[in-house]
Amino acid sequence: MLQKNVYFCPSQLLISKMKYYSTNKQVPLSTLKDAVLKGLADDNGLYMPERIPQLGSNFFATLHTKTPQEIALEVAVALFGEDIAVAELRSIVHGALSFDIPLVKVSDNLYSLELFHGPTMAFKDVGARFLARMMQHFTRNERAETNVLVATSGDTGSAVANGFLGIEGITVTILYPKGLVSKIQEAQFTTLGQNVCALEVEGTFDDCQRLAKQAFLDKELNAQRRLTSANSINLARFIPQAFYYFWGWAQMPKGSEVVACVPSGNFGNLTAGLLAKRMGLPIKHFIAANNANDIFLKYLQTATFSPRPSIATIANAMDVGNPSNFARIMDLYGSNHANVTADISGYRYSDAQIRDVIKRTFSETGYTLDPHGACAYEALREYLKKNNTVNGFFLETAHPAKFKETVDDILGTAIAIPQKLQAFMSGQKQTIGMSNRYEDFREFLMKN
Ligand SMILES: *Cc1c(COP(=O)(O)O)cnc(C)c1O
Repeated sequence: MLQKNVYFCPSQLLISKMKYYSTNKQVPLSTLKDAVLKGLADDNGLYMPERIPQLGSNFFATLHTKTPQEIALEVAVALFGEDIAVAELRSIVHGALSFDIPLVKVSDNLYSLELFHGPTMAFKDVGARFLARMMQHFTRNERAETNVLVATSGDTGSAVANGFLGIEGITVTILYPKGLVSKIQEAQFTTLGQNVCALEVEGTFDDCQRLAKQAFLDKELNAQRRLTSANSINLARFIPQAFYYFWGWAQMPKGSEVVACVPSGNFGNLTAGLLAKRMGLPIKHFIAANNANDIFLKYLQTATFSPRPSIATIANAMDVGNPSNFARIMDLYGSNHANVTADISGYRYSDAQIRDVIKRTFSETGYTLDPHGACAYEALREYLKKNNTVNGFFLETAHPAKFKETVDDILGTAIAIPQKLQAFMSGQKQTIGMSNRYEDFREFLMKN
């Protein structure tokens, strides 16, 4: 008997490790490694952890004394500690969060959590850099090359390309909508070379997303190529976005309740905040700020989710007509509309309103918003007007200079381009043209 127990030991160890299920629940539970390397589950669902670890009151009592990296490590250990040794997680966390995340007071009870101090100056650096390091951890000893496919409406491409740049054994293919991303965004993923290839697609972001999704579901293609996703659907990009909600909350003034407002497109960022709340973070309420693509707001108002083609706006990283992470929100709330609306409010802003907000906020407070942060700032301001006993922070997801043409035009001045962004602008653009037909994209992947 003893021998038998010893023999079964490895599988017993596996049983204790965290598993991940697909939101569609049509496939068996997955290991962390498989979930990270697959990105999207075979049943087209998004991976979720089977257990949500609880962080106790001791953790929250001392949170304000810790650095963002220390907080992130504790949260990462709670979630991934059964799969990855603490020393390795520490190096992944410190490698990913290699920059500051200041909380800046904009007015009385309204704060900006500036997530744009990373290499590409957008919040997606956090998730992309964490994912790149976790993928490297899981593929380090493998022979087959891994091809990361990314559909981007702007900032994902630059964050992922830069996160993976130079990582051995992994190539990155970026699909982006021709003419629909800003010059600076485009330069950040088309000028890198090395293991990064940019495809300029004749179509919208939804076309790009459809092409990538179809490739992941193509059995024959996947038998020949190891494809994986780095979109916000990937678990290892989605989860690290929870880290900075803990940090942001800890920096807020003590004594009153805290709400968080998130400029949302594909809803990965907001959903990570909801996950943090489930882990025990006492954020009282969340606010989802949309641009004209108000599919989620319509869901809050009507209990009906009706995806539709995206509309181009000046907050283009939020131009999403079928937000993927809606599936995760439904999963977290058991599709209970009343429970969702108890935790999340929604607002929407037209381009004209976004322009007014940027202009007014600059003249009244001196703070320069980017078009995405502007939606969140205004949604939070409106919410706080009606709920004036709480404090709130919004996630400022990009540096305004990433949208320089738009912001300059609105403010009537030329805002300075940080050195980090200028460096990209001087590179040589290298792209490959692509139609929006799946057959063409498939042929490209087969050949390369
Ligand atoms: C991607 C992005 C968003 C939207 O984030 P989601 O997680 O897709 O909701 C908001 N602002 C900026 C600047 C972005 O790049």
